[in-house]
Amino acid sequence: MEGQKIWLSPPHMGGSELKYIQNAFDTNWISQYGSNIDEFEKSLENCLGENSFVTALSSGTAAIHLALRLLNVEEGDFVICQSFTFVASANPILYLKAVPVFVDSESSTWNLCPNALEDAIKYCLSQGKKPKAIIAVSLYGMPFMVDEVLEISRKYEIPIVEDSAEALGSKYKGKACGTFGDLSIISFNGNKIITTSGGGILISRHKSDKDRAVYLATQAKEDEDFYSHSEVGYNYRMSNISAGIGRGQMEVLENRIKQRRENHDFYQELINEFENIELFSEPSEDFYSNYWLNTILLNENVFTKEELKYEFSGSNIETRYLWMPMHLQSLYKEYKFFGNNYSGTIFDKGLCLPSGSSLTNDCKGKIVEILTKFKN
Ligand SMILES: *Cc1c(COP(=O)(O)O)cnc(C)c1O
Repeated sequence: MEGQKIWLSPPHMGGSELKYIQNAFDTNWISQYGSNIDEFEKSLENCLGENSFVTALSSGTAAIHLALRLLNVEEGDFVICQSFTFVASANPILYLKAVPVFVDSESSTWNLCPNALEDAIKYCLSQGKKPKAIIAVSLYGMPFMVDEVLEISRKYEIPIVEDSAEALGSKYKGKACGTFGDLSIISFNGNKIITTSGGGILISRHKSDKDRAVYLATQAKEDEDFYSHSEVGYNYRMSNISAGIGRGQMEVLENRIKQRRENHDFYQELINEFENIELFSEPSEDFYSNYWLNTILLNENVFTKEELKYEFSGSNIETRYLWMPMHLQSLYKEYKFFGNNYSGTIFDKGLCLPSGSSLTNDCKGKIVEILTKFKN
């Protein structure tokens, strides 16, 4: 094994992050207040467009937790959640002792299947309880079927929590991911398209929701002098240091999206030559993906995802299996699931390939070498 490891999606600094961190030190705003937080939130509001109120938080998971709190999710409530996702989409449902109801994916976006979603809602209604929220994910950066899902949300008057943790920069019909939910979230974890080392945002459509989110994220403190509290809060605000990294990263976001999309073009050209491999791509011009991760499906079982992963790791190249759907997890398997297990079938034959914005031509050459070994 020679050379450096090729990671799936490593952090990629832009250059001015340290300047903003230095600024926090110079002004001694080290904690959860300061200009980096204000400016980072503003730059995201500009990027997402009108009617976006951004609250910077310690993680994307915290943002989902707060979104469910803002929607008054309580013990015993149903919350519908896409099954094919990272576990962080669903865990906040359990934090609140609510009951997740999982919904399968459809084949064009790998996200919420509208038919299965409607079945799940009807089941909840038959149990005498309308779900409090629908958690809709734009997995791997691919927007979900926005029109269809929003129509169902409106028809049954159930709010959407849009988990666009992986989809900053993605669009549906020209509109940014992060603007489709009644409440939306984006993550800035180290592996996402841009990072704050760790962090996330909650995006709300009303200033009053932002005010309540900030209140809940700062221990639900009602009076500064007396420390009086009447409901449970959290310590979820982003630090001014992390926000400094985010400010620097926002300056290169456009570039990062371009680089990830170029990776997709590279894989498309390569994989066109394979009969048994399919690259997951935008289903139509309505969908614009940031291609956070490039994912492939191995059809016809000529070789397995395990064999391919093993070969890559032998050359010090990181690949990963797809997210294991929640209805197949031992943590969640006792909960209701609606759909025909499409997500389980793609989990069986899928692999995520190196997709970082810093992927060099040299790295790409090594990837071509490995994949070529599997050509029949
Ligand atoms: C990363 C991620 C999250 C959680 O974000 P954190 O910032 O890591 O807490 C939630 N949902 C999805 C789909 C993710 O990929």
